[in-house]
Amino acid sequence: MDWLTDLIWYDGKFFGIEWSVWKVVGWAGNVAFFTRFFIQWYATEKLKRVVIPVAFWWLSLVGSLLLLCYSLRKQDSVFIFAYLFTWIPYIRNLVIHYRHNKACIQCYSCGTSCPPRSNFCFECGASLSQAEDTMSE
Ligand SMILES: [Zn+2]
Repeated sequence: MDWLTDLIWYDGKFFGIEWSVWKVVGWAGNVAFFTRFFIQWYATEKLKRVVIPVAFWWLSLVGSLLLLCYSLRKQDSVFIFAYLFTWIPYIRNLVIHYRHNKACIQCYSCGTSCPPRSNFCFECGASLSQAEDTMSE
């Protein structure tokens, strides 16, 4: 098992990496970026259809910003360009996601959150326009 302990910790290096604050920033970005694939895959396998959970966009945003910071520190133009603009679609997807959630209608019968402008609850079939009708009377 010496080979294993040598792999983890050898010559003052953890996993063969000479650690610094910037290495932690870069690796934290890598971990966030890499984890998002598993979260997306898990959500897709669970529902048996392709879905992108909101955590995917948060991890993408955090990961790409950390990697952008790291690449700016390294002053590597290829690396900087790879993460310079990716935050734009990530933030836009998050904005659209939360706007959509806010516009969802909650069913008064079963509590299910239904898509905006729904007339009936997709879960129990109750009319969703009742609440608005009683409020306007
Ligand atoms: Zn319902």
